[in-house]
Order: sequence, then C-alpha cells, then structure tokens
Amino acid sequence: MEYVITPPETVSIAVVGQSARFPVRRVICVGRNYMAHIREMGGDERDLPFYFAKPADAIVPTGSTIDYPPQTSNFHYECELVAAIGKGGSNIAEADALDHVYGYAVGLDMTRRDVQIALREKGRPWDMGKGFDQSAPCGDIHPVDQVGHFPKGNLWLKVNGETRQDSDLELMIWNLQETIANLSGLVALEPGDLIYTGTPDGVGPVVSGDKMHGHIDGLSDIEITVR
Ligand code: MN
Repeated sequence: MEYVITPPETVSIAVVGQSARFPVRRVICVGRNYMAHIREMGGDERDLPFYFAKPADAIVPTGSTIDYPPQTSNFHYECELVAAIGKGGSNIAEADALDHVYGYAVGLDMTRRDVQIALREKGRPWDMGKGFDQSAPCGDIHPVDQVGHFPKGNLWLKVNGETRQDSDLELMIWNLQETIANLSGLVALEPGDLIYTGTPDGVGPVVSGDKMHGHIDGLSDIEITVR
C-alpha cells in the first residue's frame, strides 16, 4: 500500500512476560462509575454511567514523564482498571463478556478538569478536557490467562508518596461484564480496544514535578511524572 503521507505507527502497550505487544485500536472511558466519585464531583447520583473516548495515541507507557498540558490550571489524575479487548463483538451478553478480555492494566485517565467542567456546563463535548495529548498513561498489560479477572481488588494512587485514592474495584456501579454488554450494544468492540473502567473518589490536581504511582492488587504498578 502506498500513502500520500507517512502513516502513523500502531500504538502498542507492553505485555508482561512476552516480547509481543498489545496493539491499541481506540480508548473508551467509562464516566461516573463509582458513587463516591459522583458525590465528590457533584453529579446526579441516579444517572447511569456513560462513555467518552480518547485517541489511541494519547497512550503513554509507565515510567514516562508527561508534559503539563496547555490551557489548564487544574490537571487531574484518575486511577482506573483498564480492560484490553482481545475478541470483538456486538451485543455481547453479560455472561460471555469476560471472554472478550485479553488482559488488564492500571491506567490514568488524565483530565483538564477546568476545561471539562466548562464544556460540561455549556453542554459541549468533553474531548478537549479528556482526549488531549498524553492523556492516557497505561501500565503493562497482564494476560487473563496469567492473572484472571478483577471483580474486586484494592486500587490506590499516591502522589509524591502520599495516598490520594484508595478504593476497591468491587465499588464500580457497572461491573466490567455490564459495561461490555452495554457498550457493545452501542458500538462494535474490536480487538485492540481499551476500556478505562472509571475512577473512584479522591481525584485531584498534580503540578510539574509531581510523581504519580498507581496500583491495583495483582497488576504491575504505573509510575508517571509530570513536567
Ligand atoms: Mn475517568
């Protein structure tokens, strides 16, 4: 195939225990999937979770230093379980949903909170608050055949060694089966899709020089520095 410009490289993420990498197709995030986070953000507690997206090339690997993004003065971390889809499908049944997961990682849904809230108040799309450059740090992926699934487990995030988020995956409003069933009724999931499953409470700002350290029991930690 010839192209009129150089095509972009496939974005990929390291897989624990092997040299082959996981290619990323797109990044879909679940919004408001923990009640304590809805409460801290002042959202309607009866609203159901929903989705937004980030471009695949917003992914950055653990160990990276990311730039403090332009046009924000309230740059937030959100530590989340990331599910990597290995088998596609539409209208996937909850009972079959976990069969579509290749593996899991710890991710950070980085957010220009001031931009997101200003867009939200105007009823406009969140893209520039959520889907900007380097906004989707993602740790190494652990295959399901080595670590199983994550219906529960401690999730925490520290900034400069101080705990800011400390919760449990079992507090998700929609568990992963429900999310995959619901989402695959809206769009066809394909291998390479990543689902950021939402963040618990304790979100907050970081500034240049801060070091974020995210953890979920059973997965490799993610460490990202802001410059
Ligand atoms: Mn999030």
